Amino acid sequence: MITPTVLDAESDRWQRELAQAIGDPEALIELLDLPKALLPEARAAARDFPLRVTRHYLGLIRPGDPDDALLRQVLPLGAECRPTPGYVNDPVGDLAARAGSGIVHKYHGRALLITTGACAIHCRYCFRRHYPYGEDNSIRHHETMLQQLRGMTDVSEVILSGGDPLSLSDRRLQRLLEALASIPHLERLRIHTRLPVVLPERITPHLVKQLATRRFATSLVLHVNHPRELSDALRPGLWRLRAAGVTLLNQSVLLRGVNDSAETLCHLSEALFDHGILPYYLHLLDPVAGAAHFEVAETNAIALHEAMRARLPGYLLPRLVREVPGDSAKRPVHR
Ligand code: SF4
Repeated sequence: MITPTVLDAESDRWQRELAQAIGDPEALIELLDLPKALLPEARAAARDFPLRVTRHYLGLIRPGDPDDALLRQVLPLGAECRPTPGYVNDPVGDLAARAGSGIVHKYHGRALLITTGACAIHCRYCFRRHYPYGEDNSIRHHETMLQQLRGMTDVSEVILSGGDPLSLSDRRLQRLLEALASIPHLERLRIHTRLPVVLPERITPHLVKQLATRRFATSLVLHVNHPRELSDALRPGLWRLRAAGVTLLNQSVLLRGVNDSAETLCHLSEALFDHGILPYYLHLLDPVAGAAHFEVAETNAIALHEAMRARLPGYLLPRLVREVPGDSAKRPVHR
């Protein structure tokens, strides 16, 4: 039994770290010893989609290297401000698939809940960077969402998404999980999160217990794009989750200048497995406005996937997919 005091102490630790995330481009540039000339563009791009990066993730970035693969994922660039044909605010058709307040219903038997608009890190290529989150973090919003879900009896798997669902406080998450557990037609729980990767303290004993004691078959789908994101600090929490029966999967996005080499992608798959995580999806970039500079052409993506296939055992080869609005499943790009 975890007492409220222990729960509060655990929550305090990760929430304190979260509160210390860096949001000022000037601070980021100074801390990482980057050229000051990057500042005006970074400020301009951050006006639309603010900079946010945890101290833990900052510690994984190589100082003094403007092309660092991890830095590229968080540093706002002037390229984000240039409109590109085909790059839009809602690239995967989330808004058209809304089945009610905060529920996205695209695929048979599954419903995705927008539990919050908050994240611990702002990934510059995020397909929801323009999503109108509004009040998605309010208690009232969660209650409305749950009420609608109770009526969706054809849904057997619920996906907690956002934003990042693990940015919810332990108490809020507990209330949400308890309410979901009381809905008879739900059988599986999936949580899409990047938070443990950028703030390993988030995998608290209480979180592990919450996920272990639910009546669902539970999977945690992490979002790791580069092997250097898998720090040693992450390892103990992941093993505790596995020991508690939680399935760990990963989805990556193929990003130019970040992971667009066969060597990096193979290393990523191997490092994921070493951390107890199975590679699941390798997504082509969703064409969201502001992220065109991350695009890897489909022909190159296929060549990279083929190179991975030649080097990796089948269970370490993620499926190369793209999401097409209106499709009934993710579309395979390559066999
Ligand atoms: S953590 Fe996920 S939802 Fe949040 S900004 Fe990154 S990609 Fe988007």
